[in-house]
Amino acid sequence: MNAAIERAKNILTNYDGPHCRIMEVCGTHTHEIFRQGIRKLLPESIELISGPGCPVCVTPVGFIDEAIFLALQKNVTVCTFGDLVRVPGTTDSLQTARGKGAKVKVVYTPLDAEVYAEKHPEEQVVFLSVGFETTTPSGCLAVQNAAKSGIHNFSLLTANKTMPGAYQAMKNSTDLFLYPGHVHAITGTKICEDLVKEGVSGVCAGFTGSELLTALAVAVTRFQEGKPFFVNCYPRVVKPEGSPKAQMLVRKMMEPCDAMWRGIGVIPGSGMKLREEFSEFDARIKYQVPPIEGRQNPACHCGQVLKGEILPPQCKVFGKGCTPEHPVGACMVSSEGACSAWYLYGDQRRK
Ligand code: SF4
Repeated sequence: MNAAIERAKNILTNYDGPHCRIMEVCGTHTHEIFRQGIRKLLPESIELISGPGCPVCVTPVGFIDEAIFLALQKNVTVCTFGDLVRVPGTTDSLQTARGKGAKVKVVYTPLDAEVYAEKHPEEQVVFLSVGFETTTPSGCLAVQNAAKSGIHNFSLLTANKTMPGAYQAMKNSTDLFLYPGHVHAITGTKICEDLVKEGVSGVCAGFTGSELLTALAVAVTRFQEGKPFFVNCYPRVVKPEGSPKAQMLVRKMMEPCDAMWRGIGVIPGSGMKLREEFSEFDARIKYQVPPIEGRQNPACHCGQVLKGEILPPQCKVFGKGCTPEHPVGACMVSSEGACSAWYLYGDQRRK
């Protein structure tokens, strides 16, 4: 085994510094840390908590209701990533809405939806655009293609979000952030460096076992020094300037708006919506979607999980009333959800 990985494992296994709470901002990190068995290595004094970085999980119930409204009342074909299909809305999920006549098609990218619209001019096609800085550019690209090709039966129902507001909302809930590498590959690292000036620490991490071990070992080592820090532990992908091309595309087509985050509430300026010149591709405007607030199942504690206040097994319905087959909340359905990770891999905490 690589000596650097061994060293990182030793640092983590033998850590005897002060208690350190690390927020895994990104759901993919949560799943990879479980999958690689990294939790088993950690002493109790290194606590990993979930954060708000799973886009499906933080999308509020009202968004699912809006999508169902479009499918059932406006007869549009809803194109979506697969894990949104089973997320419960107020009374239905998109899956149960299918039984009532909703046309719901699973796609892998927004461009798939745009191509589908091009091939099916007789249908009105709406893509459910959820995601952070990583996925927002591909939604913009799909709209740009549709505009260029004169495709008028394609639009986005946007719930795109940006991370800086979430970092601000969560900064007092953790000792340090495990920043999502794919987000910062787009945004660059200035946000993280600016947070250091506010006393907020973190490391930017990749997604392989060795990248995660290294990032966690660096994090706890620097944490013991007692001063705020930021270390980019994913320099092969994350550059200080990020991706100027992606940033430019999004700036050209979208603008910030207030956004509702499940469990957190409205974070001002943390959403992205299409600019007025692209309003033809904004499904809310195109189909005059009324304001829909949505009501969450009162048994659901996803909000507390997403803020790192509880671990999934502390939710009363975890594994009983709420399972991947019969989800009560989004965190159990999403492929990046913390509850789905705990359900899939079990409690790996070192006792
Ligand atoms: S177990 Fe289910 S209801 Fe509870 S927090 Fe997780 S997803 Fe939400």
